[in-house]
Amino acid sequence: MSVLNQASPSTALPDAALALRPSACPGLLRIVAARDGGICRIKLPGGELSAAQAAVIADASEQHAAGVIELTNRANLQVRGVRVGHEAALIAALIDAGLGPAPATGARQASTLIPASAADDVRNVMVSPAAGRDPFALFDTTQLSAELLTLLQTEARFAGLSPKFALSLDGGERLARVDHPHDVWLAATQTEDGVRFVFGLGGCPAAVTNAGAGALAAVLPSQVPDLVRALLHTFLDLAAADAMRMRHLLAAHSVDAVLQHAQTYVDFPLSRDPSLANWRRATPADATLRLGAHAQRVVGTWHVGGQPPLGRLDTATLRGVATLAQQRGNGTLRMTPWQSVLLPDIASDAVPAVLAAMNALGLACDPAQPGTRLIACAGSTGCAKSLADTKADALLLADRLPDGVDVHLSGCQRSCAAAHRAPYTLLAVAPGAYDLYRRDASPGFGDCVAHQLTIEQAADMLEHLVRSPSDA
Ligand code: SF4
Repeated sequence: MSVLNQASPSTALPDAALALRPSACPGLLRIVAARDGGICRIKLPGGELSAAQAAVIADASEQHAAGVIELTNRANLQVRGVRVGHEAALIAALIDAGLGPAPATGARQASTLIPASAADDVRNVMVSPAAGRDPFALFDTTQLSAELLTLLQTEARFAGLSPKFALSLDGGERLARVDHPHDVWLAATQTEDGVRFVFGLGGCPAAVTNAGAGALAAVLPSQVPDLVRALLHTFLDLAAADAMRMRHLLAAHSVDAVLQHAQTYVDFPLSRDPSLANWRRATPADATLRLGAHAQRVVGTWHVGGQPPLGRLDTATLRGVATLAQQRGNGTLRMTPWQSVLLPDIASDAVPAVLAAMNALGLACDPAQPGTRLIACAGSTGCAKSLADTKADALLLADRLPDGVDVHLSGCQRSCAAAHRAPYTLLAVAPGAYDLYRRDASPGFGDCVAHQLTIEQAADMLEHLVRSPSDA
């Protein structure tokens, strides 16, 4: 473990009661050792970074790491293979590029000093990669998500949240990841009186057709920051020291008790609204919109997206995408929670050239391409826990993946590559051997339909299951 696996050297906890929840998660200031070197995770507000920042990441990754940049399922980036002794230089380069947490300023600096590593850790607000661009969105979440990020980083007590503690802010876009459980989720909904945000705890909003939770209550958009603040304080007030996530709190306290406690922090009513128990998202979410070109709200502008193989970019590809953003887009890139890249604000006449360039860079822009339907964790080349080389096996499977089938290959039960439950999961049990799970209502990966399959056997079995969906 690196020396950097500590709080920022510049700060100290202001309050003995502000106990940090321990974490083995990588962060920008907490480089965590893996089999292929250190991992440095860069949290991106709204998944966004500038082309110049992307170029810095590419350069720093070459100088201080293995030149492999990974996209995460929270729309962040991580540099893999950080070399021993290079940690401080890598971190300095990234912070100089503005990729660290917001610097302490004003009242925050004077009264309460938050360790920079904690301020970095809590920057977990998921929004649509098409926020502010999606023509079907009910609400542009750009400003509101920035307010929430500021709140998380500046209120000293929130340094006590686990680095895994995460919020989701759904503006009703069609391109939305609504199957990731979040500790607090909020979703825009249209009412007779205008847009409101419904919210829930420890789960996902129910989609149009699938399972998920109904909503607890609704608030005005302007009340969202106060609501979130109240819920976070409530979590810290009530949760046991070893409780990392909202679901842990809800195992010990009823939702009504949590809301009742949160009410003490806000001056608007905060009780469960039974009429929202069956609330459903009105607009179906469509993950395929992350790929290819799609019209934005402003006529004549498009977002164009592509998926790198198994969520990894080499430095040349990252530089290539950054150059495209600079020359053809608005100079920014957006990472998506499907481990893909989206370039916003492409003019209509530039769309064909951008698509061609993305394809030439090795990014899949068509949902029919198998690379868009496969995810795999780091596997045995990058993780000591993995029982198989999931990345290499996923590439083998790509050649025979049946149409329309999404598969997740996981080296162990921890499921690092997928916060959601994939339709099919291949769980490694030995090198080149996997148990196959099919998603159903049971917990975990679902129903185990076959054991000890080679990749070839897994491809055959998937083909069979797709053709005869009722067979097991
Ligand atoms: S899922 Fe398991 S094997 Fe794969 S990266 Fe995570 S801990 Fe390692």
